[in-house]
Amino acid sequence: MQGQSTRFREKQDSILLAATYIFYYLPNRTVGELKSAGLESFKKQLADIEPDVSGALSSLGSWSDVAESRARRVDVKNWVSDRAAMLGDAVHALDPSWAQGANLSLQDAVALANTIEKCFESKNFSAQALRGYERERRKQTVFVQNGAERTARLTTTEDRFYYWLGKRVLQRTGRNKDLMRSALRASCGLTDHFSLREKIRFII
Ligand SMILES: Cc1cc2nc3c(=O)[nH]c(=O)nc-3n(C[C@H](O)[C@H](O)[C@H](O)COP(=O)(O)OP(=O)(O)OC[C@H]3O[C@@H](n4cnc5c(N)ncnc54)[C@H](O)[C@@H]3O)c2cc1C
Repeated sequence: MQGQSTRFREKQDSILLAATYIFYYLPNRTVGELKSAGLESFKKQLADIEPDVSGALSSLGSWSDVAESRARRVDVKNWVSDRAAMLGDAVHALDPSWAQGANLSLQDAVALANTIEKCFESKNFSAQALRGYERERRKQTVFVQNGAERTARLTTTEDRFYYWLGKRVLQRTGRNKDLMRSALRASCGLTDHFSLREKIRFII
């Protein structure tokens, strides 16, 4: 047991090392500019933002170590049909800015498992019987999808007004414990809405 747990720790370290990544948002238009400035300049930009990552950046040897992708949102009309149900990114892929995709998928799994249990009890696996799972999960999913999309847009905007607005929301949230709590509750998947009061207080 002792040996096994040590081996696991060793493995876990290497998994963690392999899985360490830096997630950096930038407007689509500027990807070419970033690359033409060179990898060293990009590494300096990252290290200036967060000096703690300087060491890890030495493992970036060429642009092939950097993946570039555009977030894609998936909206699906029906999550269930007779004897079948889908969950996770297949029904609600979203911008990663709130780091919620996997969490939403796990919450889907719990809701679906509970629904399937009821289906076994009633021996009914029709779309109608499975629909309860979809109803339970949709509202929060759309809330998180919209919030993540909005955050990404404000983070990468080149529009002066939206840039100002994004900065203001971040500053107000950073200074106010209640707002920070609301933002964290939302981005941790603990709520499926902001009250009108919260929405206003993020800005004014
Ligand atoms: C850059 C980035 C950062 C992220 N960070 C976070 C985060 O910090 N926190 C968080 O909660 N979420 C995060 N996410 C989102 C998260 O990764 C996804 O939401 C989550 O992996 C979705 O899980 P899934 O099981 O639905 O789909 P997937 O993880 O995509 O699993 C689907 C699997 O099906 C396999 N597959 C596809 N087609 C077939 C086929 N025809 N036959 C057999 N197998 C097939 C695929 O290979 C894949 O393994 C991030 C996403 C990105 C892109």
